[in-house]
Parts: sequence; C-alpha cells; structure tokens
Amino acid sequence: MIKDIEFESPEVIKAFQEQKLQEALAYLQANSPYYQEMFRENDIAISQIRHLEDLTRIPFTEKKDLQLRNWDFLCCPKEKIVDYVTTSGTLGEPVSFACSDKDLQRLAYNEKKSFACAGLGPGNILQLMTTIDKRFMAGLAYFLGIRELGASIIRVGNGIPELQWDTIQRLKPDTIMCVPSFILRLIQYAEEHGIDYKNSSVKRIIGIGEGLRDQNFNLNLLGRRIKEKWDVELFATYSSTEMGATFSECPYGCGGHVHPELIIVEIIGEDNLPVPDGEVGEIVITTLGVEGMPLLRFRTGDMAAKITGQCKCGRYSYRLTPLVGRKNNMIKLKGTTLYPPAVNDVLDNTPYVENYVVIVQDSDAGTDDVVVQLGLKYQPDFDPVKDLKDRFRSRIRVAPRIEVLPVPEVAAINFPAKSRKPVKFIDKRAKPL
Ligand SMILES: [Zn+2]
Repeated sequence: MIKDIEFESPEVIKAFQEQKLQEALAYLQANSPYYQEMFRENDIAISQIRHLEDLTRIPFTEKKDLQLRNWDFLCCPKEKIVDYVTTSGTLGEPVSFACSDKDLQRLAYNEKKSFACAGLGPGNILQLMTTIDKRFMAGLAYFLGIRELGASIIRVGNGIPELQWDTIQRLKPDTIMCVPSFILRLIQYAEEHGIDYKNSSVKRIIGIGEGLRDQNFNLNLLGRRIKEKWDVELFATYSSTEMGATFSECPYGCGGHVHPELIIVEIIGEDNLPVPDGEVGEIVITTLGVEGMPLLRFRTGDMAAKITGQCKCGRYSYRLTPLVGRKNNMIKLKGTTLYPPAVNDVLDNTPYVENYVVIVQDSDAGTDDVVVQLGLKYQPDFDPVKDLKDRFRSRIRVAPRIEVLPVPEVAAINFPAKSRKPVKFIDKRAKPL
C-alpha cells in the first residue's frame, strides 16, 4: 500500500506539490483562455515557476475576475461538463462553476479523505442534513465521498427536525453532517418531544459552514453550547466551491488538515506577500488536478493562519486555524487589526448582554470608528460600560465605543423586515471596489 502523502515529511510534501504545480501550470497554459492571457500580459514563463516560493510572481485571481470573465476560466469543452453549480460572487451576480466527470471523482476523493480524517470508514452511517441540490456543490460531494469511502449515507436534506429524528430512530446513524447551529434546534426539538437524544445512536457531528473552535482550538460558544447538552464528538470543516477541497479536523481538533494532492495554500499579508507560518493572513489557493475550472492563486477573502509541524495524529500535512474572519470585514481600531468574530466572542460571553450590533464607520482620523450598541439582560450593580471596556481590553487589547439601548431597539436592528439572517455587523465604511 502506498503511504498517504499527508504522513510524509514536509520536504516530501513540498516536492510533491511542486511537481503537481508544474502539471497544473502546463494545463492552464494549454487550456485556460483566462490564464493564457494573464501569462502573456504579465510576461510569465511557466517554466520559471518551479518552487512554491515562485508563485509570488503570478498575479492573484480575484472573485470579481471569476464574475466578469466566468467562462474564460473553463478549460474543457462544454460537452465534458457533468455538473453545473453556482456560488455567490461579490458583485451581485452568482458565479457559475462546472465539473467534469474527472472533477467529480476528485471531489469524491477529497471527501473520502476528509471523512477518513474524522475517523469514518466502512460500516459508519452518516445522516446528511444539507441540501444535495439547489445548485450547491457540497451535498453532492459528500454523497460521492461517502460512496467512495465505502460507508453509508442517509440523504435527509436540511431542516425539518421531526424528519431528522424519525430518521435517526429508524436507521441509527452514528454521524451527522450539518450546519452546527442546526444542532441546537435538533436538541430543542428533542427536549420538547421527549426524545432521549443523549442516548441516541449519534456519536459524531461534522460541522460545515460555521466554526466550532477558537484560535486556541478550544470549543467556541457554539461548540460549547452543543457539547454541554450533547456529549458527541465535534469536527469542524472548511471548504468552498472554488477550492473544491476540504480542510478537515482529525480527532485531535487542532486545525483543518490540507490534502496536499488537491490544493496549494498560501497565507498572504497586507503587503500581498506570504506571511511566516503561524501568522494570520488571507487564504490564497491554487487548485491541483482540476479539469473544468482550475484556479491559480485565488484570493478567498478568508483569514486564517497556517500551522506546520507534525500533528498528534501523525500527519505532516499543514493545518489551517479556524477562520479569524473575512478580509472585507477587517477593522482597524486604534492601531489594532481585528475581525467581527473576536468582538462578538467578547459580547457572547458577557452574561448581562442580551443583544448587540457592531457598527463600523470611517472616522475623521482615517481609521475605523467602532460602536457597539447593546441591550442589557439585567442591570448589573456596577457600570456595565466600564466593565465591558475592560473585558474588551483584556481580550482584544482595544475597546470600542459602547452605547446601551433598550433591548427592543437593538432587536429591531438585528432583525430587519427583509433579512433572513440576523444582522450583528453593519459596515458603513466607504470602500474601494
Ligand atoms: Zn491531525
């Protein structure tokens, strides 16, 4: 049996990725209208890009490039496309993605490895609580991955706690895959209907789309809320349509492992150059082995750090920390860089805060002005504004302005008539596109 590349030494992994990069570049040069033009206009000879460090000579691909030049990214004849999906773009219109048969095999391989990383194998039964249609890639990829792994899947789709519990009781899955906050609804439904969920067949939950841990790999508020109620194993994943790859936690839960045969990750600082390992920057990815719409140095807009060094599970494949935030939402407050999740975390863990909204606007000084408007659950017997400022300073070094408002007033901001998601962050800054 060939040794899994993830357990090889960092040097072997790097050399392996550089070989794969050569193949990917040659493929783009031969087949991609978008990258052919980019190489020509920037005088890039792909033969000069031999090492991962050489990637910095190539311009980034932005989300808006995908949107404006969508089909110029397609590298194969349309007849080879099996599956079309769309993803949301930054300019309003969705971006189309197209997968060939080979790409679907690649997705199956990716999810097979990711599920195996979370400890699944033949004999496990996974209940899928995400949609498999609606032009999404993820649900189909999970199905293909489970099939490839030789495990079993139950495709229930998202929502409908009653149907989810009926399925759990009938078919006894050991693993659930869903958006983690949905678990809280499942627990609530079980409690209201006398379902003994703590003794159900479910032992493992794989979360998608929402983080479960903080930067120290401890469970975050959502993770703790689930774990306090239901003692199951929690696994977080990070993936996207553009990457066509998943970063999945192993049972040690200290970052999502990269699958080196599928994707190259660079972490890029504000100067557009790679930052040292362990430092936070924007995740920039290059896909490997994609036939339909491969991407080269694509800026994801997500911020995280790369962790090298061997994991307790034995893998050397580097890991990504839980996402720190979105680059677009980056706040510069009194010289400190921070992201809304860090601000939310302080507020979520303050017992007397009922609800809140974080508002960022331009200040006259050219930096960001941050105001937290909040409602109080109860009036503490000390000054809540002063106490909160201390909490902020001890957690994120700086304190925003704080305004206490009546709870219903904040609730009205959190749930405006037309929005389906609660609004907790409002960005009023003037931004260059
Ligand atoms: Zn590991």
